[in-house]
Amino acid sequence: GVSAWLEEAGVAAVALGFVDPSAIVRVKSVPIARFSDVASSGVGLSTLFNAAISNDEFALSPGFIDGPSGDLRLRPDPAATVPLAAMPGWAWAPIDQYTQDGEPYPACPRAFARRMADALADRGLSVSAAFEFEFSVGLRREDGEFQPAHEGPGYSDIALVRNHEFALDLLIAIQSQGLDPQQLHPEYADGQFELSIGPRDPVAAADAAMVVKQTVRAVARTHGLVVSFAPQVALGTGNGMHVHLSLWEAERNLLSRGDGPAGMTGLGEAFAAGILRELPAIVGVTVPTCLGYLRLQPHHWSGAMQCWGTENREAALRFIVGATDATAGAANVEVKPVDGTANPYLAVGALLAAGLHGLSAGDRLPPSTEEDPDGLPDDVKAERGVRQLPASLPEAVNELAASSVLRDAMGEFLFETFVATRRGEVEQYDGLDDEELIRRLRWRF
Ligand code: GLU
Ligand code: MG
Repeated sequence: GVSAWLEEAGVAAVALGFVDPSAIVRVKSVPIARFSDVASSGVGLSTLFNAAISNDEFALSPGFIDGPSGDLRLRPDPAATVPLAAMPGWAWAPIDQYTQDGEPYPACPRAFARRMADALADRGLSVSAAFEFEFSVGLRREDGEFQPAHEGPGYSDIALVRNHEFALDLLIAIQSQGLDPQQLHPEYADGQFELSIGPRDPVAAADAAMVVKQTVRAVARTHGLVVSFAPQVALGTGNGMHVHLSLWEAERNLLSRGDGPAGMTGLGEAFAAGILRELPAIVGVTVPTCLGYLRLQPHHWSGAMQCWGTENREAALRFIVGATDATAGAANVEVKPVDGTANPYLAVGALLAAGLHGLSAGDRLPPSTEEDPDGLPDDVKAERGVRQLPASLPEAVNELAASSVLRDAMGEFLFETFVATRRGEVEQYDGLDDEELIRRLRWRF
């Protein structure tokens, strides 16, 4: 059956990961002997988890998810199941949501991401996607404060030496899980690290994102450390989860060796422009909690300004050029206003949806911004359409709720239920002072 290879790899139990609207993972575990059955019939979970908010309460959506009745079947995807190096005996399985009648459940984020990838395939195109993870490593003090595992200097060997056992074990674990680690470094903030992994198809990239987070936590635990992917664990530099995307036609990267801006092809430009245009609504999906707006501010390298630029770290879309023959395949757009509270399936789905819309509309990019976008004179900002992305969750939710591009792509059910959860987050957390917000949420992600 589908589990023979897992048994051979020493797997005794599989954790089925349901990724909720704030990327909190709700797990159901099964012994390996049940895995084959579960892969076809699924395990149960209340539909309400699609309405979950960060404090484990539920935000209902009248006419969609509006009461305590209803059950899902979560079906693990055997082909995407990964034995976990740092949790010996365990494997991780991404799931698809079905109704009890065996129909695809309309609020399933993974199905949404797959639909968007399929829509690109219908045009003869594909996207290669990679997440880049920033996270805080340290101890959770008794009073709940974060005690960092290093105090910098940012990027320094000092920070690495203090944590070399953790860093090495992490690279080995990620590598042995076939996730192609690219780089690991101590980041700017105290206790902060960044790990990037290789690109893959959009659904696999989102699956990998969840496996990476699981692995980082598990490796840290073996060293007596805890990890947070919250966008802020203390005031200051935040944790991002940037997304890198490239658009392909067969073996050709459409972001390179074209005659458009920065060497993009026409299709590459339209795809990027579609994303840029829709960003104010997209951040409702990619920065979906109040905590994220402490990070999403100008001058934090978090991409708070709606503009694009080549290698511009203040631009929401940072274009990375593959200039030479050898690097043409590496050209990509980095979407920076994304954090670890974003459900990665919804995030890639929303980005692809906007890119697809750009392709249909034949969108063009405004002139690029190589300066600090926040410091531009107003007339230049107006000419290039540069503006600050939503600075709070309520603003972002309003932008999202008004987006017909995302509504059409997600479908009414997923769209309405997701928006309801974000309004629930607003009700619960908007208006708290920064320290209190961090205190309540830093250990939930
Ligand atoms: N920490 C920054 C953020 O919140 C990103 C820094 C970088 O460019 O790597 O997104
Ligand atoms: Mg970084």
